Amino acid sequence: VKKNSSEPEFIQAVKEVLESLRPVIDANEETYRREALLERLVEPDRLFKFKVPWVDDKGNVQVNIGYRVQFNNAIGPYKGGLRFHPSVYTGIIKFLGFEQIFKNSLTGLPIGGGKGGSDFDPKGKSDREVMAFCQSFITELYKYIGADVDVPAGDIGVGGREIGYMYGQYKKITGLYEGVLTGKGLTYGGSLARTEATGYGLLYLTEEMLKCNNNDIKGKVVAISGSGNVAIYATQKAHQLGAKVVTLSDSNGWIYDPEGIDVAAVKEIKEVKRGRIKDYLNYRPNAKYTEGKGVWSVKCDIALPCATQNELDLDDAKQLVANGCFAVAEGANMPTTLEATEYLQKNGVLFAPGKAANAGGVATSALEMTQNSERLSWTFEEVDAKLQQIMVNIFHNLSDAADRYNVPGNYVTGANIAGFEKVATAMTAQGIW
Ligand code: NDP
Repeated sequence: VKKNSSEPEFIQAVKEVLESLRPVIDANEETYRREALLERLVEPDRLFKFKVPWVDDKGNVQVNIGYRVQFNNAIGPYKGGLRFHPSVYTGIIKFLGFEQIFKNSLTGLPIGGGKGGSDFDPKGKSDREVMAFCQSFITELYKYIGADVDVPAGDIGVGGREIGYMYGQYKKITGLYEGVLTGKGLTYGGSLARTEATGYGLLYLTEEMLKCNNNDIKGKVVAISGSGNVAIYATQKAHQLGAKVVTLSDSNGWIYDPEGIDVAAVKEIKEVKRGRIKDYLNYRPNAKYTEGKGVWSVKCDIALPCATQNELDLDDAKQLVANGCFAVAEGANMPTTLEATEYLQKNGVLFAPGKAANAGGVATSALEMTQNSERLSWTFEEVDAKLQQIMVNIFHNLSDAADRYNVPGNYVTGANIAGFEKVATAMTAQGIW
């Protein structure tokens, strides 16, 4: 804790995982101590930090900082997204990279944990500026990544446009046409259903969690935060499953549409016009827009935080419980604070942690890697069916792990244990490295 005291998000993520691993640690204490397994687990294999100079539209040189953490490759090549947001620094990248180890393990696919990004803010930048930044970013990062080494993807601020620019530059420098990035466009190696995967996967897992607790998602009212990739496709799938999503948000404010969010309108605002969620009123004048926070004050049955870390705090959790919310599943990474998570669990709310609930994105990225390796493309239905099966399996694996360690229904502990076991076994088998 002392060594990483300037990285509170990283400490928060490690604390949550290690505390819930206690029963496994106790059962294997001698081995883990002898091998310093936990010490090796919480220390990244390596962390790159680099300068990213680029020229803006006025001809001025801008300098941002780029990061990539290669956390653990015990079960496969490093894999994890790139985040472009002004808040990015080592603490954010390390928390995300650490979580990614267990998430990737939970998918059942051979991928290790990594993460990266920059404090670059794509908001308000022209396409040319974004391209200039992406090219400079990859001109340094290309040295450390590769289809069998480390395979970055998107995250906050990084979508198809950014991945395309980075892929083009990687190819120009290395001459390699390989699956070094996922989330690529469909004409150059991308996978069908990758765009939808995180949001869809979140709903597949939520649906299974409800089913296994004698409930049903059909007819339920859902509150969702964020209005980016995860939030949009979570909304779409929730509607397909017969639920009604009534909120979305961005960092400026939030909308409430009691009739149910119009997904086509949100897609046009966010994906085509790159606008703000406030613009929703132009499409649905009867909806309500409020500045600032507030999504979790709405009466709902299910809450799906899909924006960013620590966006759902203790007060929000109290409000959700008071309003009768009975299930929370995290589309974003670590959106719920530790206190809020505890409160929700204590009050009987079904709680699916992000490392399980949002694993559909990286799982489908791994399916993209498979398609790139065999130089084939699967149909949307094929990928979607695999995604659904993966999410159902994840839920049962973490639910079984919770049962095995006598904490039935504690899906946070279950997810951490199920994700950890495979990585720990692989680390032990591979000796000290
Ligand atoms: P996007 O950039 O597409 O959207 C992010 C959304 O969250 C935007 O609406 C954004 O609003 C909002 N947001 C971001 N930062 C903040 C903040 N500090 N305060 C309030 N709102 C904020 O990202 P994604 O949808 O891809 O990612 C959302 C979450 O899901 C992240 O936690 C990410 O790590 C996680 N995730 C994403 C996966 C993926 O496949 N994309 C996979 C697994 C997890 P604004 O426009 O105002 O910034």
